[in-house]
Amino acid sequence: MTMTDIKTLAAGDTDLDRPIIISGPCSAETPEQTLDTAKRLARAGIKIFRAGIWKPRTKPGGFEGIGVPALQWMQHVKETTGMLTAVEVATRSHVEAALSHNIDILWIGARTTGNPFAMQEIADTIRDMDAPETPVLVKNPMNPDLELWIGALERLYNAGVKRLGAIHRGFSVYGTSLYRNRPQWRIPLELRRRYPDLPIICDPSHMGGKRELIASLSQQALDMGFDGLIIESHCNPDCAWSDKDQQVTPEALSAILDHLAYRDTPVQNENLLMLRQQIDQLDNELLDILSKRMSISREIGKYKKDH
Ligand code: PEP
Ligand code: MN
Repeated sequence: MTMTDIKTLAAGDTDLDRPIIISGPCSAETPEQTLDTAKRLARAGIKIFRAGIWKPRTKPGGFEGIGVPALQWMQHVKETTGMLTAVEVATRSHVEAALSHNIDILWIGARTTGNPFAMQEIADTIRDMDAPETPVLVKNPMNPDLELWIGALERLYNAGVKRLGAIHRGFSVYGTSLYRNRPQWRIPLELRRRYPDLPIICDPSHMGGKRELIASLSQQALDMGFDGLIIESHCNPDCAWSDKDQQVTPEALSAILDHLAYRDTPVQNENLLMLRQQIDQLDNELLDILSKRMSISREIGKYKKDH
């Protein structure tokens, strides 16, 4: 499996030293919120605009995305700002609607990557629509299963998709953790070792789940030689209809990007970095376990007192 570099997407970017940066709201909510966020991102020099149109929610009853009408807002963003547009797709009808509204880039959400039937359907649709040049970015599955992630990429590759990339958004956690989704950096690093030409983008927003963690996770990813970042931003993050704790304003995003160190080559030997990451992760897990232990012994204390 060889993959074509999607870095050409950023062609026209005067700041070519920088990695690929994709930003925009978790969800397109209203025409005003979408366009306001996009205009402010364009002013900050962002070239690729993301927004969720169909939202895969854990439970029914939450905001499930605007659907097809929001694709017109994305087209409007493209005409007004000149940015490229990216949306998440999970079914044949999503792919058909997105491509017929001239969306430039598709991404596959973590819940979909882990479903081979959905992945095959998406791959077949792109082939049926004769759109092999459309870049497709595949998020890691929820669970730490590298083979499933690669399998999803292979289904697209076998269907003729020429411009593939991976998004590392971390792996789900049961119980409490510093992260919403644990980085487990050794998994994307193993993906890089196996497919050195495949661009890998980090999603510090879904990984951290909190805006305070975006800068440090982004720097760690850049230090490991990731090819870019996808960061959620919103014109008014505290009022976002989904993922409000992890979104930043376009201006805050710009400040984060300005403070990151962009390096030509990964700063640390990969093996050493990988070992350090593993120690960090084990430290976090130890802290989690100790705090769980403490709360159980508190419960035991209370039980003894009551009985
Ligand atoms: C998203 O990008 O808004 C999203 C739903 O992400 P994930 O698939 O990583 O949960
Ligand atoms: Mn989100």
